[in-house]
Amino acid sequence: MLACVFEGKNTWDIREVPEPKIRPDEVLIRVKATGICGTDIHILKAEYFQDFPIIAGHEFSGEIVEIGKEVTQFRPGDRVTADPNIFCDHCYYCKINKNNHCLNLQAVGVTRNGAFAEYVAVPEKCVFPLPAHLSFAEGALAEPLACVVYGVRRSNIQPGEKVLIFGAGPIGLLLASLFKVSGASQVVMVDISEKKLQMAQKFGADEVVLADGKERETLFQISPQGFEVVADATGIPKVMEKEWEFVEPDGTFLVFGVAPRGSEMRVDPYEVFQRDLRIVGSFAVKKTMQYSLNLLGSGKMMVKELVSAQYPLSRFGDALEDVLHNPDHLKVQIVFA
Ligand SMILES: [Zn+2]
Ligand SMILES: [Zn+2]
Repeated sequence: MLACVFEGKNTWDIREVPEPKIRPDEVLIRVKATGICGTDIHILKAEYFQDFPIIAGHEFSGEIVEIGKEVTQFRPGDRVTADPNIFCDHCYYCKINKNNHCLNLQAVGVTRNGAFAEYVAVPEKCVFPLPAHLSFAEGALAEPLACVVYGVRRSNIQPGEKVLIFGAGPIGLLLASLFKVSGASQVVMVDISEKKLQMAQKFGADEVVLADGKERETLFQISPQGFEVVADATGIPKVMEKEWEFVEPDGTFLVFGVAPRGSEMRVDPYEVFQRDLRIVGSFAVKKTMQYSLNLLGSGKMMVKELVSAQYPLSRFGDALEDVLHNPDHLKVQIVFA
């Protein structure tokens, strides 16, 4: 089969590789669409798990073509997506329902071969059926939305609260859309790209603010008291430092953007104490894939519009170029006939 293989730091190659062999508890999926995610870039830059060669790609959908002999819930022909996270189910954290901190965590497209390839093998317990009317392109957005579902749950948003989101990329837009569905009375978004802010309005943002150096003033005009939830979807520590002051008393700062490991953000502990603040992280997906699919199936979430470009696997280089150098790109997908 054809695959894009990450051979080593910053080197990749599109070449023929053997099809994956499935174990008795796995299914073989013919891939139809795979999104490119920041994590894929980190893997390519050897900033994550550095086991090369690896086929990355963990946001995917496709059709089952083969099932292992212990598989009971699926059959060939089923349209599916998958939670790429494979929990061991018997370590300390798995036993106390903190599976996303599994001590033996494996992930499709991260620690084992993923979906920048014609076929991918996935354990049955990670596979989810796609709602009938959902396209494969939409199905490949179920995983990023599942991360966002976990983040919004972690934020503990309450009906009527106001939300401020920094970063109007695919994740910021999904956050905006889900916060609206979850009862936020006002969602305000900040970004450096006018085009992304236009999208933010389509995704339900009530106000959009261009980060042009005057955004602080504008944000305090919009909401002088601040916001109950301030969510970062930039992952840039210098930006995150400035987001903090917009959290209103007894509010939550949601760290959703992935900052470089080892970076620092200045926080005044007195402010945390005196204003009753909460700082909340949100790592990956914790059994929120089904909720993501429920939301996608309900039609309440805008997702299709997130896909800004689709390329065949043979044009992986162009797709990567989009992700790395086109500031207006949203979700870029690799698609298969
Ligand atoms: Zn991802
Ligand atoms: Zn575990």
